[in-house]
Amino acid sequence: MKGLTGKNVLITGASSGIGQAIAIRLAQEGCNIAINYRKNAEEAAETEELAMQKACGQEVENCGVKSLIVQGDVSKEDEIIEVINTVIDRFGSLDILVNNAGIQTECPSHELSTAEFDRVLDINLRGAFLCARETIKHLLSRQQSGSIINISSVHEIIPRPTYLSYSISKGGMGNLTKTLALEYADRQIRVNAIAPGATVTPINQDWIENPDKKAVVESHIPMGRAGTSEEMAAAVAFLASDEAAYITGQTLYIDGGLTLYADFREAWS
Ligand code: NAD
Repeated sequence: MKGLTGKNVLITGASSGIGQAIAIRLAQEGCNIAINYRKNAEEAAETEELAMQKACGQEVENCGVKSLIVQGDVSKEDEIIEVINTVIDRFGSLDILVNNAGIQTECPSHELSTAEFDRVLDINLRGAFLCARETIKHLLSRQQSGSIINISSVHEIIPRPTYLSYSISKGGMGNLTKTLALEYADRQIRVNAIAPGATVTPINQDWIENPDKKAVVESHIPMGRAGTSEEMAAAVAFLASDEAAYITGQTLYIDGGLTLYADFREAWS
């Protein structure tokens, strides 16, 4: 896609699922990729290998795409500052940030502990803010244009009982996207989000390997199936590219029609 070759990208939580697919896709588009992970170094190495293989084939040494693995917990300010500095040191600059790291936990809201509420918000929302803040500081210091893409969720707008902290974090991400987009539009920093619907990744282990549960999930999706990480990554590549040069402050729902009020498919009377 237009304008991605040679761009330096940081993807948080990129060792699995949607983040891994984004790292692979952006490497294929010619970006230099920094793969952030928190715990699983092996998965991060696997992501790097897959991405470089797809981008370069047998020519990893000469293909021009660079990669980097950076450990760090997005909810920890000092670690994020270190991660961003490492990327800038190694790549020379940072052009594109993908705020992908996220967790979800289930609990009836009246039993949800303060610590658990904070943990989800700290990673999903505060983490995205910290990474965005440090990236924007860097872009402004160089008077450089850039792009931030937040991985939100259909739960940015659909309430999800027993997933209160997750729903709040993604609702907040919608406003994080719009507010930053408005604040920095005149400095040519675009901020957008994608909102995946049900997607086949490790976060959904409880239903992806259970055919009955999967059928229930998919029965709510107008297109009749869950999405793939690659479908999410394609939208991120588009938003990061110059094809989307005039798009900012938007959340793009990629959900097989899930946000179209699927229950209205058939007449109610
Ligand atoms: P996943 O569990 O494979 O990916 C989440 C990644 O975030 C993991 O690699 C995890 O290690 C990392 N992570 C968690 N806490 C972290 C921290 N503190 N610091 C750094 N990394 C951390 O699941 P996924 O589905 O690929 O999720 C990616 C994003 O997509 C999440 O933000 C999730 O909310 C969002 N999303 C997923 C779906 C879906 O159905 N899979 C739907 C909507 C939105």
